[in-house]
Amino acid sequence: MTLFEKIIAREIPADIVHEDELSLVFRDINPQAPIHLLIIPKKPIPRIGEAGSEDQSLLGHLLLVAGKVADQLGINSTDKGFRLIINNGANGGEAVPHLHIHLLADRPLNWPPG
Ligand code: AMP
Repeated sequence: MTLFEKIIAREIPADIVHEDELSLVFRDINPQAPIHLLIIPKKPIPRIGEAGSEDQSLLGHLLLVAGKVADQLGINSTDKGFRLIINNGANGGEAVPHLHIHLLADRPLNWPPG
């Protein structure tokens, strides 16, 4: 069982900001911006590169959840804004093998990223 499956099962505590039947959103334990959330599917897909066509609507759902949570946090405007990131594999910086979308906000973010 991965760390994030344990968070879904409430075996490990997390600061949860949204939950529905398909997804969970919680605050990153090591935030890289004043707002740093992780948006995860409850289905244990290891990484985006291993998602299949059967996951199409689930992946779309995760992006729509990102927008809804951004609305709730008051950052869903062009003058504020946010960034979504998916790390995949070693060079991508993936540490937890359960698909997650990082949502970073509330500070200017450089481009290109490091
Ligand atoms: P990644 O490097 O894309 O796999 O991201 C994994 C993220 O999970 C990192 O940003 C970690 O800070 C975060 N993380 C690790 N353990 C926890 C935890 N117990 N609760 C919340 N976030 C965590």
